[in-house]
Amino acid sequence: MKILVLNCGSSSLKYQLFDMDNESVMAKGLVDKIGLEGSELAHTPEGRDKLTIKKDIPNHGVAIDLVVELLLDKKNGVIADLGEIDAVGHRVVHGGQTFSKSAIVDEKGLAELERLSELAPLHNPPNVLGIRTCQEKMPDVPQVAVFDTSFHQTMPASTYLYGIPYKFYEKYQVRRYGFHGTSHRFVSERCAKLLGQDDAKIITCHLGNGSSIAAVVAGKVLDTSMGFTPLEGLVMGTRSGDMDPAIVTYLMGKEGMDVKAMDAMLNKKSGLLGISGVSPDMRYIEEAANEGNERAAVTLEVFKNRVLRYIGAYAAEMNGVDAIVFTAGIGENAAARRAEICANLTYLGVDFDDQANDCRGKEVEITKPGSKVKVFVIPTNEELMIARDTQALTK
Ligand code: AMP
Repeated sequence: MKILVLNCGSSSLKYQLFDMDNESVMAKGLVDKIGLEGSELAHTPEGRDKLTIKKDIPNHGVAIDLVVELLLDKKNGVIADLGEIDAVGHRVVHGGQTFSKSAIVDEKGLAELERLSELAPLHNPPNVLGIRTCQEKMPDVPQVAVFDTSFHQTMPASTYLYGIPYKFYEKYQVRRYGFHGTSHRFVSERCAKLLGQDDAKIITCHLGNGSSIAAVVAGKVLDTSMGFTPLEGLVMGTRSGDMDPAIVTYLMGKEGMDVKAMDAMLNKKSGLLGISGVSPDMRYIEEAANEGNERAAVTLEVFKNRVLRYIGAYAAEMNGVDAIVFTAGIGENAAARRAEICANLTYLGVDFDDQANDCRGKEVEITKPGSKVKVFVIPTNEELMIARDTQALTK
C-alpha cells in the first residue's frame, strides 16, 4: 500500500510518499513560497540526489500538480502511475471538539473543518485547501485528516477549562485543546513499548521551534501545555508561552498597540527571540551564550525553567512518572539542554547518564540502568504516524 502524506502550510507544502509494506519513504520534498516571489520545489527520491526546481508556483493546486508530476517523472519519479497511490493523509492543525480521532474526509467533514477554521485561522484554511485540491485531482482516492489536537481530546474538563466565565466555553468553545498531538502520540507509544508497560505514566517533551509538553497516562493525555492556541505553555522560538494575561491590556494601553500588533508581538517577536534579541534558533542562542552574551544565557535559563515547571506539574498531576521523553529539534539534538534539565530531576528519581546523553537525533535511553524514572530521546516522526492512521482507516 502506498500513501502520500501532505502537510499544507499557508505558503508551503511538505510531502512524503510511503511504501507501507515496510514503512519506507519512497520520496519526500518541500514546495516553498507558494504564491510568493522565489517559489521553489525541492524533491528527494529515496537513495538519489535532491532536485531543486525554481519556478512560479502561484497556488496549492499548481504545487500539488508539480509534486504528482515529479512522483511520476521517468528520471526522478518513484511510481509509474498515479493509481499506485492508495490514499492521501493530510496533517490538519485543528479538529476542535468534533474530531477525537483521525478521519476519512467527506463533504460533511470538509464543511466541519471549514467551520473550525475560525479556531485556527492561519492553519486550517491551507490544510482544507490541500484536501479539496487532492479530491479534485484524485477523486477516487480516500483523503484522511490527522489532527494535531485529537490525541489531546482525552483531557478531562479539569485540565481543559479556563478560569473564565463558562458561557465563553459554551458559546465559542474557548477551552484548552493542545497541539503537536501526532508527535506526542508517536513518542509516547514508542516509549510505552520500550518500557513494556501499557499503563505507564509518561511526560513527553516536544521541544522544537514550537514546543509543548504532555502528560500521558496509559496512552491517554491527561494534560498538555498548549491551550486554545499554540501560544500557551513553554517559551518557544518566537512565541511567549504562559504569561500574566493582564500584560496584554497593559502594553496595549502603554504602547498604543492594536489587536493585530499585539498578536504579532506574542506570536512572532517573543519567546527565545524576544528575550535574547539574538535569534529564535536554539543553536545561535547557545553559541551566543557560550561567547558570553548574558541575555542569551538568561534565555537558556528561562527555557529550562519553564520545562522544569511543566515536568514538575505533570508529575504531580499524574501522582508519579515512569518515564520522560525528549523529542523534536531541541529535544533530539541539544544534549546540553537535556543535561541541564535532568540535573534538576534527581528528586523524581532520575539517575542521569552523561555519556549516553552525548548523542544527537537517535533513539537512546539517557538514564543509567536501574534509574527509578527513565529518560529517553525518541526522534519524532509525525509523517509516519499520519501514514499509519491513513492506512488503518483505508485498507
Ligand atoms: P523543530 O521545530 O523540531 O525543527 O526544531 C527546531 C529547533 O531545534 C531550533 O531551535 C533549532 O535551533 C533546534 N536545534 C536543531 N539542532 C540543534 C542542535 N544541534 N543543538 C541545539 N538546538 C538544535
